[in-house]
Amino acid sequence: MNADDRPELAVSERTCPNCRTAVPPRRDVIPTFCPQCGVRLPAPLAPHVPPHRPLGGKPNTPAGAIASLVLGIMGFCTPMLGFVLGLVAVFVGLDVRQRIRSSHGRLSGEGLATAGIVLGSISATFWFLACFAAAL
Ligand SMILES: [Zn+2]
Repeated sequence: MNADDRPELAVSERTCPNCRTAVPPRRDVIPTFCPQCGVRLPAPLAPHVPPHRPLGGKPNTPAGAIASLVLGIMGFCTPMLGFVLGLVAVFVGLDVRQRIRSSHGRLSGEGLATAGIVLGSISATFWFLACFAAAL
């Protein structure tokens, strides 16, 4: 580490890694190429930090999380078709819960998706057993 690696220098004035020329910023434009040798300058440090979630934005609940819960509830109230609705609720819920978990806080509703998975699997099992019992 030398003085050229300090972050405050990276924002205001950059140093060429090839010829060590200090490259001052022109107006508000951060220089990307060295005017002396034309070498591409390393990207400034500040914009490299990825935003974890949009500033001031509430995490969104994907429609799939609500749909999974609704399908899971509907599965109980719908004879025979409830088996299919329950299975759809489970698959939609598993898919959307995976997306919520990998969204780093940008999506919410994991509880809704889990409820849909649980309700869907119960109603699918219930109607499966009901059909099975009716067939006997
Ligand atoms: Zn240079």
